[in-house]
Amino acid sequence: MIPLSEAKAFVNDRISRARPIAVDLEDALGLYTSVALTSEVDVPGFANTAVDGFAVVVSDVAHATTEIPVELMVVGTIAAGDLPNLRLVPGSCARIMTGAAVPNGTEAVVMIEDTSVVEGSQGTRIRIHRSVDVGDNIRLAGSDIKEGSILFDAFTRVSPTVLASLASVGIRRVPTFRRLRVAVLSTGSELSDSPTLEYGKIRDTNRPALISTLTELGFVPVDYGCVPDDEALLSATFQKAAEQCDAVITSGGVSVGDFDLSKLVLSRLSNGDMRWMQIAIKPAKPFAFGLIDNTPTFCLPGNPVSSLISFELLARPALRLMMGAPHPERTLIRAIADQDLSRTPDGRVHFVRTSARFGTDGRLHVRPLDGQSSHMLNALAGANSLVVLPDGHGVKFGQEINAMVLSVDECY
Ligand code: AMP
Ligand code: MG
Repeated sequence: MIPLSEAKAFVNDRISRARPIAVDLEDALGLYTSVALTSEVDVPGFANTAVDGFAVVVSDVAHATTEIPVELMVVGTIAAGDLPNLRLVPGSCARIMTGAAVPNGTEAVVMIEDTSVVEGSQGTRIRIHRSVDVGDNIRLAGSDIKEGSILFDAFTRVSPTVLASLASVGIRRVPTFRRLRVAVLSTGSELSDSPTLEYGKIRDTNRPALISTLTELGFVPVDYGCVPDDEALLSATFQKAAEQCDAVITSGGVSVGDFDLSKLVLSRLSNGDMRWMQIAIKPAKPFAFGLIDNTPTFCLPGNPVSSLISFELLARPALRLMMGAPHPERTLIRAIADQDLSRTPDGRVHFVRTSARFGTDGRLHVRPLDGQSSHMLNALAGANSLVVLPDGHGVKFGQEINAMVLSVDECY
């Protein structure tokens, strides 16, 4: 058996970043920027009011109080989007709505809450009940983003808020690393897609799990179906998937059984630039990786839990790295065992399916779930975390241990 770090190093030495490409803003969600992005404009582009109220000259209202308000003549109304074509002179003010450009001569805006209306014979006048300082309630041009400033560094993930910020400066095309197309196929003559199962056949669970995981991560999964344990068929499908996609993920057929053909097929198609590994982890010990015509090909084990944990530990970080993620690995969080997590020494690191929750002490607490065997998909489906249990006898109630949180929103 080899350590997980050695398996990861073998993979990482053979992958490279996806080709940079500019995509439309609407298509950039989940991608990573390939270069730093600079703003060519100020945001906001013009000085505007942060509140609904009255644009004023500060000296006019310097002594305004609730008891002794100051009266000003209203010389105009400016709505958001209007071009203000008036000029404030001392003694006048302009009614103005949030987001509207302030007229020339404006020194501050008084909130509508600090004013009252007086109807008189010479038109509407406004009473100002509070003094303001120069600049109060005005958003200056460039106060959010300055022209010429770096908006985002290279390798920034385009999140909805990054996308909004790019939209605010008018960037319509985003330089990113290409969204990877990832082939997924299941191997095994026992697999069936038929609604009624013949005795001895099983439903394919790895493909839907892997395809949906890839979708969630922002990749484009491409479905190559189930392939029976037939060397010629496997070989043809592996080859086609490698030609048409940026990476290939297979499950099944990497163990030591007579019909475990994936590793054999990978070895032939990669001209030997591959490695079949027995990794010192549980579950997901067997794994193979190689390049088919330069396309990274991950052969995961078939057992449903093993295949998903193998994806999590080996394929997920590698694919994220290829797409430009600067920190492709999951963060480990120190957690407290709310129950004994016992194991026996076997030279392997165990990944225990756990339920994690944040306690009233602000710490993460973990409990093992029932059904830790590698064919028991249900415990994995109920798990929001994997505890990383190093070789040894495990940890006792109350001790600290590293947890890999799969879904932090579910830790309640
Ligand atoms: P293998 O790695 O091919 O020896 O498969 C190990 C175990 O996982 C066997 O019990 C298979 O039937 C099962 N298995 C393999 N592939 C899948 C799959 N795609 N979905 C569900 N179970 C699978
Ligand atoms: Mg099999």
